[in-house]
Amino acid sequence: MTTREVLRFVQHRITQHPDTDVTYEAECLRCAWKATPSTDGGAVDVECMGHAGVSNHRGFRRIVTGFAYVVRADDEASPHPQSSTP
Ligand SMILES: [Zn+2]
Repeated sequence: MTTREVLRFVQHRITQHPDTDVTYEAECLRCAWKATPSTDGGAVDVECMGHAGVSNHRGFRRIVTGFAYVVRADDEASPHPQSSTP
């Protein structure tokens, strides 16, 4: 008796994870200052400019965090994971 494998290739697509937002953060390259994380990137930029104005520190590391979710392309149902944790 032999074992036979059947391989099937399925197209997938990747989307924004449901019920999540993109979060923007920034931290100063010269001191320990950090902007308040926000879903509004403009608000984080304004905080960086404020820090630069009082410290003359002009370099920042921007961090943008988003969550992704992979679904089968032939699955017409809306992606909704079992868990709310990405
Ligand atoms: Zn600084």
